[in-house]
Amino acid sequence: MAHSTATAITNVRVFDGTGLTAPRTVFIENGLISSGDPASADTTIDGGGGTLLPGLIDTHVHVDKLEHLERSLDWGLTTLLDMAAPNLDAVNALRNLERLPDVRSAGIPATAPGAGHTVKMGFPASSTVTGPQDASPFVAARLWEESDYVKVVVENPAHFGPAAISTETVAAIVMAAHEANLLVIAHAVDTAAAEIACAAGVDVLTHAPMDRVFNDHFIARLAERGIVSSPTLTMMRGISEGAFPPGVPVPDFGNARINVAKFHDAGVTILAGSDANMDPGSPFNVPHGESLHTELGLLVEAGLTPTEALRSATSLAAAVFGLSDRGSIEAGRRADLLLVEGDPTDDIAATRNIQGVWIAGNRIR
Ligand SMILES: [Zn+2]
Repeated sequence: MAHSTATAITNVRVFDGTGLTAPRTVFIENGLISSGDPASADTTIDGGGGTLLPGLIDTHVHVDKLEHLERSLDWGLTTLLDMAAPNLDAVNALRNLERLPDVRSAGIPATAPGAGHTVKMGFPASSTVTGPQDASPFVAARLWEESDYVKVVVENPAHFGPAAISTETVAAIVMAAHEANLLVIAHAVDTAAAEIACAAGVDVLTHAPMDRVFNDHFIARLAERGIVSSPTLTMMRGISEGAFPPGVPVPDFGNARINVAKFHDAGVTILAGSDANMDPGSPFNVPHGESLHTELGLLVEAGLTPTEALRSATSLAAAVFGLSDRGSIEAGRRADLLLVEGDPTDDIAATRNIQGVWIAGNRIR
């Protein structure tokens, strides 16, 4: 057995999901937050009156290199939810590595044959789903590959015609995934795709549409069904700032922001996801790690309070994805921690003032 170390972090205000506690000591034993006596610590660290946050969870990344994990951890990200991998082996090689973020993955996403996203991102032929009859085998294959959840690429039929996945097919995937206790996350970059995904009963919509503002009826239905949004505003803004050929409508980031504000007002659960990726086929490369802090800032600009934004990257992300061992600083949870200077519940930009990062009790920064 490896020698287990016990660390006490003194003089920190702890983010408890609603605000900051009075300065206190947090004790870590065997990689977990402990209710034991901090006097038995091998190492004591003065937190300097800073804020201790649960390690951040990015609910939308693409990772295929060790450096993506290293960079993420440097920025206090301790859990990365990969949202589809053209190269399954590369992602799987990044799972369960010590002193690096915990990676979960959708593996290969469900896409319609010939769909724009499939071709552009180089997903393998095994990702194609031609109709509802392919749903069960698709989910079975993901289970075999140990996917942690299912990603479905839903596109606008007005743009892709028969190459767009149908509502019936998405609904069949949802049914098969739910039977296997897997969540379904739908890529939907425009409102028509989001409507298909919602009608099919997916669990999480990712990307905030920029084509128009959702009507209130749709927003109410989303809230009523408990569908969650991971809007990836960092990615949407990046796309909107790209170059578009003449005649192609330029996406309006303002619409994405208003859509998030409407979700927020309706009580839809919103999660922080950056869409970090370095894929050459992607419309916009989002740097790993730092971009989640950008996302938190954009969520606050869209109307979330700083406390809500912090929850979107900690307790809410853990709850939606069933990660019950993390997401809050409580005895028995993983000691994935981020120490920052200042009060991010007052100024969200304070999450960038990183003083320390721990993963499963190991200090890495
Ligand atoms: Zn993505």
